[in-house]
Amino acid sequence: MDKLTPKQTSKGAEEIVLTQIKQDFITPANAIFDYVDMVEKALNDAQLESTDEIAQIKTSCSKLIDQYDVAFVQNTGANADSSKKSPEEYSELRHNLRTPLNAIIGYSEILTEDYEDDLDEGTLEDFQQIINLARKTETAIEKFVDYIRGEAIDIKDDNSSHQLQSAESLFKSLGEIEYSISLDDEIKKSDILIVDDNVTNCEVLQRRLSMQGLSCRTAYDGNSAITEVFKKTPDLILLDVILPDINGLELLKTFRKEHNSESLPVIMVSAFNDVDSISKCIQLGAQDYLPKPINGTILIAKLVAALERKLWREREKELVDKLHIQATTDQLTGIYNRRVIFEALDDAMENSKKSSDREFTTIMFDIDFFKQVNDNYGHAGGDAVLISFAQLLQTEISSPNIVGRVGGEEFLAILYLSPDEAKEFCVKLIHKINHNFVDFEGTEIKISSSGGVAFSTETETSADLISKADERLYVAKKNGRNRFTLHDSELLGE
Ligand code: GH3
Ligand code: MG
Ligand code: MG
Repeated sequence: MDKLTPKQTSKGAEEIVLTQIKQDFITPANAIFDYVDMVEKALNDAQLESTDEIAQIKTSCSKLIDQYDVAFVQNTGANADSSKKSPEEYSELRHNLRTPLNAIIGYSEILTEDYEDDLDEGTLEDFQQIINLARKTETAIEKFVDYIRGEAIDIKDDNSSHQLQSAESLFKSLGEIEYSISLDDEIKKSDILIVDDNVTNCEVLQRRLSMQGLSCRTAYDGNSAITEVFKKTPDLILLDVILPDINGLELLKTFRKEHNSESLPVIMVSAFNDVDSISKCIQLGAQDYLPKPINGTILIAKLVAALERKLWREREKELVDKLHIQATTDQLTGIYNRRVIFEALDDAMENSKKSSDREFTTIMFDIDFFKQVNDNYGHAGGDAVLISFAQLLQTEISSPNIVGRVGGEEFLAILYLSPDEAKEFCVKLIHKINHNFVDFEGTEIKISSSGGVAFSTETETSADLISKADERLYVAKKNGRNRFTLHDSELLGE
């Protein structure tokens, strides 16, 4: 196993600082190997299958050290490449150096969770040590990159070490926190898309999600992610910022053209842990942001929060739609209710004043001898007649014309027809009503309706128009029913 040895050439202040920076990385990085050896032995002794995960941790650890070593030589001392790098290049360097930590931390957490009940406390603590050490190397990488960028860093910061100590004692005083989330069954059905070019990252994420009973799809580049979203819109996307073909931010913009953040929440995942890139992601419509290496608890908490928010929004929308239908529909017949048709009449009246091509005809219908239907066939028979009559009107009257039930066996229609067209319409409708037999429990019920017709040009207000239609309906009833009255008491029938 290759271990890194710091250069001990401490000539001058800069070299002392550099030695310290390197030491801060090497010490925890080397210690990870020791702990991995210990947990590997414990897993083997307990005959727990873990070959793949341990191999991944070891490879990533070697990669972590090798990459740091190369970066250290290239960027410091006499061999340093003196050309100034762009901020993006530094971000990329930081990202590359930190990438192996995803597998080290991820697999350690997975093995701990998988074998929590099978391993002794000492081994579980060793796993925790691996995670802690990995986080220490992460801090050391940050300091290293800050330093080579030319930023002043504090090597021996007593204040921050004091803060760290107090944070550690705070966590100790809290004791062991049991973190478990019981997921709503609806949340468990969620379809999550992981977009990351690093196969190991995808695997770690997938395993973490499956532990919570969540299933997911994966895409290793931007174009495959677009294809996956096109195939079926997922409930949530975990989107890596750096991808080989299209960068994550561009991809996010593409998704936002078709889906808003409520219908498709996106959580960005990146090692660029700086405020600017986080705020850029949020501005572009990301719901949240997860820094790499990913902490399993924070991942699940953020993911569940985003999924729950989406689910609640959907339920809220369903409820609002349902309430809207209830508020506008007549419960028995399913056509518009009194409120909708009267509001529509007010609007139609107002518009007809503005333009002559918005003039309209209104018809008030009342089923003849309906009480007798109830008497002969019972209330259910009467209801069947009302449903059938409403359906017939609904079929004959289509947008922009509308019809609604105003009460009992009375209906009102608004038709954008001239008086002549209205007359023709009424004649045909009377014929249809007379030939509409309502099937009720094996018997055919025959009905007729009377109607009062009035034109928007005849009155100033919608109330007066209704009164006029009502008066004409009364005339039709008085003259033997099964007929419609137009202006000048003109009676239409079969
Ligand atoms: P006319 O020809 O003069 O209109 O006589 P009619 O019997 O149709 O009129 P009337 O106003 O005397 O009776 C209407 C009946 O409609 C009385 C009421 O019980 C019944 N009714 C009102 N709403 C409903 C309902 O939702 N379902 C049923 N089955 N009957 C209803
Ligand atoms: Mg009536
Ligand atoms: Mg009636």
